[in-house]
Order: sequence, then C-alpha cells, then structure tokens
Amino acid sequence: MQDFNIKEYQAADDLLKDRVILITGASDGIGKAVAKEYARVGATVILHGRDTTKLETVYDEIVEAGYPQPAILPLNLVNASAEQFKSLAETIESELGQLDGILHNAGMLNELSPIEYTTSEDWHQVMQVNINSVYLITHACLPLLRRSTSASVIMTSSGVGRKGRAFWGPYAVSKFAVEGFMQVLSDELEGSNIRVNAINPGATRTKMRATAYPAEDKYQLITPQQVTPLYLYLMSDDSGSINGQSLDAQAPKK
Ligand code: NDP
Repeated sequence: MQDFNIKEYQAADDLLKDRVILITGASDGIGKAVAKEYARVGATVILHGRDTTKLETVYDEIVEAGYPQPAILPLNLVNASAEQFKSLAETIESELGQLDGILHNAGMLNELSPIEYTTSEDWHQVMQVNINSVYLITHACLPLLRRSTSASVIMTSSGVGRKGRAFWGPYAVSKFAVEGFMQVLSDELEGSNIRVNAINPGATRTKMRATAYPAEDKYQLITPQQVTPLYLYLMSDDSGSINGQSLDAQAPKK
C-alpha cells in the first residue's frame, strides 16, 4: 500500500480536458469537491446523486465558474433496479457518447452499533449503496470504458475497510468488499486501457464524518477540497502506471 504526499502534486490546468467522468455522490462532501476540481481541469462531469436540488446547485457552481457544462444523473442507489443501472449507462452513451472515468464516491453510514443489534434492513441498505452499486454501475459502464483511450476507475475505501473496528458493522464490511472488488477487477483488466484503484480519503470534514463523530471539533479536520489532489492524480494519465493500488489521500500523522 502506498502513501501519497498530498502537498507535492500539481495538476495541470488541462489535466482532464475532453474527458467525461462520472462521479457518484457528487451532491455533497468529497464527491462535490472532486467533481468541481475535475471540471476545473477540463472534464465534462456527470454529477450523480439522489437529491436533484443539491445536484443542481453543484451544476450551477460549475457553469458559473466557466467550466465545461456538466450533466446531472439522479438515482437513489438504495432502491435502484438493475434496469435503472443499465439505463444510466445507456443515457451516458446517448447523451455524451463516451466515458473515461468513474469515481465511485457515494457512501452510506448506518447508525454505529454492535452486529448483534444491526438490523437486516440496515445491513442490506449499506451493502446496496457501498458495494452492490459499485459493481452494478461498473458492470453497466464497462463497454463504454473499454472504448476510452485510457480510463480510470476509482473506488472509495476507508480505514475500517482495511482493519475492522467494533460497531462499524456493514459499513466496514462493505469497504473491505470495495477493496476486494478493486483488486479482482484491476487484476482482470491489467494491461488493458482501464485502470482500477481505491482511495481512502481519511478523516475529512463532511456530513458523514460528523454523523460518526458528533462530539469532534470539525475544524481540526481537513476539508474535502484538501483531499482532491490524489483524486485528480489517479483520474489522469499522470498516474498511468498505477493499477490495483489502495492509496491514502492523507499522509499518516507523524
Ligand atoms: P457525505 O455524506 O458528505 O456525501 C456522501 C454522498 O453520497 C452524498 O452526495 C450523498 O447524497 C450520496 N449518497 C448517499 N446515499 C446515497 C444514495 N442512497 N443514493 C445516491 N447517493 C447517495 O460523505 P463523504 O463525502 O464523507 O463520503 C464520501 C466517500 O468517502 C464515502 O464513500 C465515504 O464512505 C468515504 N469516506 C469518508 C471519510 C470521511 O472522513 N468523510 C473517511 C473515509 C471514507 P446526499 O447529498 O443526498 O446525502
């Protein structure tokens, strides 16, 4: 596992020019910050989320900044059907004609509790959003990604997806599955035009983090904007030799 020195990487202004990139969970937190950064360096971003109003705000911010016009793709991952995942890919193909990258960022945190008290509904919902949807979207979009000159798929892991921790239940298990899925898929695609990696953003000042640690001083945490360099690097050809890696967006504390 490698660590990325967040302070060293400088993305070129045209880093993702003419790329079309799907970002799931782009309505808030890390996904929103990364989507705006991808657009800033030239990408046409497809903003996925479940709340159209929030997605429209991100859309407006990107347009007002003068970046390439984005697209919005609302879909609630908890109850989306197989048909809806398929039509997500068909819509991208018919509206934009290409897909060069996916950032699987959408995530759901259940109420932290012992496994003994975790309901099957909680379990299934978290698995549906955090891992099943990652498979379903990737599977539906692979034919499009295969047509890209060079494509990058980024999955989102977590510290509890590498070492289990009490009370993190289905969230932690789903992130272990994300790591496993990344390893299997990247191995299958080794030598192809598609690279697959995972990022653990580390503790970041978002709604999800505040839910998990309500008593914490959020101003001690880095902002979503501050974790974006690794996301830029991994989505671009600057990281062309990196495949099958699980990277940390924040250097470990000394
Ligand atoms: P946020 O809660 O700020 O954002 C999560 C995003 O996922 C939002 O856009 C949210 O939409 C979307 N989302 C959640 N549920 C669904 C659903 N059912 N259907 C569609 N979209 C959905 O979280 P973060 O930015 O903190 O997290 C981003 C990723 O980083 C997650 O995968 C998380 O597990 C991971 N992570 C975060 C860490 C942190 O400290 N923040 C640490 C380690 C990993 P909406 O706006 O509608 O809620």
